[in-house]
Amino acid sequence: MKTKIDQLQPIYDNFEAAAQSYKADAACAKGCAFCCSDAGSIDITTLEGLAIRDVIAAMPRPRQTTLKKMLSADMRRREQKKVSACPFLMKNRSCMIYAVRPFACRRIYSLKICGPDQHPLLSRQVMDLGDAAIRALQSLDDTGYSGHLSYILHMLDTPAFLNVYLAGEHKPEAVMVFGKTHGIGINRMLAAGGPRTGA
Ligand code: SF4
Repeated sequence: MKTKIDQLQPIYDNFEAAAQSYKADAACAKGCAFCCSDAGSIDITTLEGLAIRDVIAAMPRPRQTTLKKMLSADMRRREQKKVSACPFLMKNRSCMIYAVRPFACRRIYSLKICGPDQHPLLSRQVMDLGDAAIRALQSLDDTGYSGHLSYILHMLDTPAFLNVYLAGEHKPEAVMVFGKTHGIGINRMLAAGGPRTGA
């Protein structure tokens, strides 16, 4: 898995290089965390989740405990269909895991300043480049899954799931119930252009 985690950054970098010229007119500015605070689903792959877990494991114990509570609260709010800010957004409006933030956060930018009536506006070309990068991430993690960040981290915190996943085994039937109720997709199906119907 470590080798696979190392392959995430080149996919991020290739996207950045290809999208750079289109992002020249972005309205985004430091301190604007609209897409983190008014966050829809922040989809990550299980492999990206592993990279995030490594960073969490290196944090001081009290911060890990607080974060665990915030991730659980995010899960509960989303299960109740309530708006929820990203648990990694800090009070100073910066990202606690910036170096390993998932692709969902890297692809987003806006040509107009965001607000309640203006969600991020991306160019078509960047949308297409982002879709290609997501397929590459799903192919790389072809025994894994995709879904909202706190749901995927919850799956990875479940030993019965983690052990199967780390062993490189693929048993979607084992996560069927959680997958269906939490919009989790099976990467190898998604990468092949299949529908997102939940695991
Ligand atoms: S992971 Fe970081 S960049 Fe992504 S939504 Fe959360 S706070 Fe924002």
